[in-house]
Amino acid sequence: NPFQRARYMLSAHNTPQLPPDGGFEVAFAGRSNAGKSTALNAICQQGSLARVSKTPGRTQQLVFFDFTPKQHEQPAAKYLVDLPGYGYAKVPKDLQAHWQTFVDRYFTTRQALKGLVVVMDIRHPLKDYDLQMLGYAANRGLPAHALLTKADKLGRGQQMQTMQAVQRELHSRFGDSVTAQVFSGESKLGVDVARGVVARWLEL
Ligand code: GDP
Repeated sequence: NPFQRARYMLSAHNTPQLPPDGGFEVAFAGRSNAGKSTALNAICQQGSLARVSKTPGRTQQLVFFDFTPKQHEQPAAKYLVDLPGYGYAKVPKDLQAHWQTFVDRYFTTRQALKGLVVVMDIRHPLKDYDLQMLGYAANRGLPAHALLTKADKLGRGQQMQTMQAVQRELHSRFGDSVTAQVFSGESKLGVDVARGVVARWLEL
């Protein structure tokens, strides 16, 4: 698992703080509490790479995890990028606006960005924020992949029913560039599949 090498690298609050735009990276987005940190930790097989249940309002940053292979002389940088959870009421308006501009610019200009993973609670999929992030990716022609997480909270039948409904909706809105799967960071359901999708985008 190449993601096991991932280490915290930096947190960027604005465009100048971003690492040089030359490598390969995949961004993870999700509403607060969707299970994004748990999903990142499961994919990287690390107990606490991304912090689970962070302090509300202190997450307005892009967090970079580096797992650049070191065996080559000039390796292309490989990053996973944790976008801040969204949905905390406490974030002040001006910070929201700053954030919007920053993420907007990141999504529209970042050459290293190869794909987007959107983490959604399988019981509450496709909220406005999720559709907004998927829209960003679609506008750039970037592939996106939806993790319907906390699948362990539903029975197998309900998992499949939700998954098919979500796939239909995604397909009608965004065409073939968006895929979806059931996932659980808790039971590790679908972790290998998710890892495979991200690895392909990153040319691992
Ligand atoms: P984030 O805010 O999106 O990063 O969400 P977290 O990863 O911090 O998870 C939020 C809460 O949901 C925590 O209490 C987790 O233990 C729980 N959680 C996350 N993933 C799963 C999952 O797959 N199954 C279950 N049952 N709970 C989960």
